[in-house]
Amino acid sequence: MTQPAIQPATERMLPTLTDLNRPYWTGGADGQLHVQYCDACSNWMLPPVATCPGCGGVPQFRPVSGRGTVFTYTTNHQPFHPKIPPPNLIAVVTLAEQDDLRVMTNLINCAEDDISVGDDVVVRFENHGEVYYPVFEPAEAGK
Ligand SMILES: [Zn+2]
Repeated sequence: MTQPAIQPATERMLPTLTDLNRPYWTGGADGQLHVQYCDACSNWMLPPVATCPGCGGVPQFRPVSGRGTVFTYTTNHQPFHPKIPPPNLIAVVTLAEQDDLRVMTNLINCAEDDISVGDDVVVRFENHGEVYYPVFEPAEAGK
């Protein structure tokens, strides 16, 4: 039996925006995911930080490719919050830019049976007011 594809959320519990995290959560307005990069030690980092944990430098936000692979995922069937109806796919995605650059996210436009660890995914954004919440879909879904 074919499972229905999980759709983007129409509502979410949204992050509190700060000067530090605002570029990450709102940067998707231009269709790109923005992640901090440290020029001093050539390192991408998530979540947003004031100083680079590697060298103490000041990282800057830059757009990334939006491509990644599924590091791990699970299907949630519990209705933990009324704004997030189950089922939903909770995932950790490794961004293409760096082996240890990972983002906690949701997978959309696919069903549990459509996805596997290591699959290629691409970023999409759910727009919730000022926030552009990054989620990922199978790379082949956008073709
Ligand atoms: Zn650094």
